Amino acid sequence: MFLFTLTQEFVRQGTATESHAITLLRRAVRRGYDVEAAPDGSVAVNWTYRRFHPHDENRTLTEPRSLTLTPQILIRGLTETTRQDLELIQAAGDRARFETQSGRQVVTLGFHRIPPAASARLNERGFITDDHGRARLTLPALIAMHAQDHRTHTTIPQGWVRPSETGHASAAGLNRPGRRNGLLYSRTSAALCRCGDLSIHADTRDEARRRARDHRLTTTAQFIREALTT
Ligand SMILES: [Zn+2]
Repeated sequence: MFLFTLTQEFVRQGTATESHAITLLRRAVRRGYDVEAAPDGSVAVNWTYRRFHPHDENRTLTEPRSLTLTPQILIRGLTETTRQDLELIQAAGDRARFETQSGRQVVTLGFHRIPPAASARLNERGFITDDHGRARLTLPALIAMHAQDHRTHTTIPQGWVRPSETGHASAAGLNRPGRRNGLLYSRTSAALCRCGDLSIHADTRDEARRRARDHRLTTTAQFIREALTT
């Protein structure tokens, strides 16, 4: 279950089931809205609403609009071990079941099982849910795993550097404005993603941050289109 906040002319809040949330997200992607997944399992949707100004034919009013979906249990503690268990459950598909063994609830995966303490923890922390006896990953868990796979960062611009360090081997014009004692001022910043598909150098850190965000939006849209079905 998610809590949603829809900010239009008025702010509306309410709850959404997983299938309702998936419908909202798929619609947002179809409409080309900015959709970004977060590591706590929430999703932020942003778009611009345009309408004609009622008293001026040539003007269009633009208003920012947003929708946030926040899981009732925020995803925390998505460690490497937790991920391994979640990936086993996901790979097991319909074979992942909740069963009671010696009075304790465990997740069984065909011949394997998730130990009782770990099974209980995954359930209590909102990573998995009991879907008519089947153990399946919750939507917040899938969103959090996706966001973790695409965690981006940008590097701090180096500032004053020797030309050789930036790849500008030539010492020509070292005394021109913008240069000092043979040093060059570098504002360049790299944008990188954990998935390895984003590795670029931008002229400024703002530009690097924009490229990182673009990457997160693109991969989130792809995730919603390809991995989520109601
Ligand atoms: Zn990525």
